[in-house]
Amino acid sequence: MIKKFIRKVLGLKAAGPKRVPLAKHDIERNRISPAALKVCSVLHEAGFSAYVVGGAVRDLLLGAAPKDYDVATDARPEEVKPLFRRAIIIGRRFRIVHVILNQETVEVSTFRAADAGDSQKDEHGRVLRDNVFGTQEEDALRRDFSVNALYYDPATEEVIDFHEGLSDLKKRTMRVIGDPVTRYREDPVRMLRAVRLAAKLGLSIESGSRAPIKKLAPLIGNVPPARLFDEMLKLLLSGHASACVRRLRDEGLSEGLLPLLDVILDQPLGERFVTLALAQTDERIKTDRSVSPAFLFAALLWHEVLAASKSREKKGERAAFALEAAMDEVLETQCKKLAITRKLTATMREVWTMQPRFEQRSGQRPYRLLESPRFRMAYDFLALRAASGEVAEELEIWWRSFQAAEEETRRAMLQPESGAKPRRRRRRKKTADTSHGQEGGPSNDPSG
Ligand code: ATP
Ligand code: MG
Repeated sequence: MIKKFIRKVLGLKAAGPKRVPLAKHDIERNRISPAALKVCSVLHEAGFSAYVVGGAVRDLLLGAAPKDYDVATDARPEEVKPLFRRAIIIGRRFRIVHVILNQETVEVSTFRAADAGDSQKDEHGRVLRDNVFGTQEEDALRRDFSVNALYYDPATEEVIDFHEGLSDLKKRTMRVIGDPVTRYREDPVRMLRAVRLAAKLGLSIESGSRAPIKKLAPLIGNVPPARLFDEMLKLLLSGHASACVRRLRDEGLSEGLLPLLDVILDQPLGERFVTLALAQTDERIKTDRSVSPAFLFAALLWHEVLAASKSREKKGERAAFALEAAMDEVLETQCKKLAITRKLTATMREVWTMQPRFEQRSGQRPYRLLESPRFRMAYDFLALRAASGEVAEELEIWWRSFQAAEEETRRAMLQPESGAKPRRRRRRKKTADTSHGQEGGPSNDPSG
């Protein structure tokens, strides 16, 4: 007890690691991916130490399948690379080695030291450079949460625990290593990681680690937009996007990420739309179907675009111009904080611009829309708008039927050109709609 207290006062540095044998955990060697095992054994044979570390160990202990494998070693990147046929040194924030073995990429990083107090920081305490090699103990200390600082040695099947990560995992809690305020200041993204990992793994954030988040949330604004975009993407594609966004909101973190997300969520239609989009994404990820980040971001920002466009129309701008200008406006504001890539924004624009075109159901227009390479995504977007009550369900049903129909039926479904005599044509259209609705559209059924 006293020892523990002294350790705490000394900033945990004096703690020796616990080496926990297989009898006390359940990570048998054969649960580790073959590529990660191979990487560790090659490094061992070359005389280095090598451990599976971080998310993979945490997830295995929780009984979940790891998304990917990280290996930590005392070998330098330039010592790691020549040991493997396919390996590249990647150097963004840190220099790490990607080893590729049978389609699997293992990220190998050299033990790094935590901030020693003399690393370069911005005026809010954010670390700008920290690529200093260190010991395994230092490597454990620089990691964000105790549950992320567990090392697994495939050779001995031991878990090496420097910061009571195993006991925190048993308590199903995430605890920041060291002083939470300092650690969040060093890297505000850790607050987002806390929320994302807690939501994904069903863990709670320990009270001391949770308490400072609300106050420090504005620091998210100092994180480079490209990094924020990466993190946001991880969050949205985690399979737990709904829970994450809810939790971000509860912790006061959403405002800095997606300006006005709160405003959108406070409008009944906007909230329904975003909630549906996130739920659909989670469902697709859980069933191993692909998800388009462009679609997701388009959905998250749609009601903002809509509001901006409507307000321009009220001032007398023509609808098409208003929409165009609204897209520019919203994307510019958003991209200042969140560097959504150009490729993505181009697709988002296409999907948005196509929405008013769904209203045009006469002449050649529907055929042209159908041929557009983004038709499928834009139609899915329309379906989401219909499900949230923003547009009539009838419109979505019409398009669903139109896509599936034979040419003759399609022709019959077309609406009259605006110059034509309305009465006769409209009656004809009605017959077409009803006959088709019976085949394809459950919502056309008056009993349902
Ligand atoms: P997942 O891969 O499931 O999203 P993860 O914890 O593995 O979660 P990674 O981004 O793969 O996340 O990071 C691997 C490890 O690197 C983490 O487990 C943690 O130990 C460390 N780490 C990642 N980001 C940070 C950070 N911002 N500050 C400190 N340590 C970090
Ligand atoms: Mg990982």
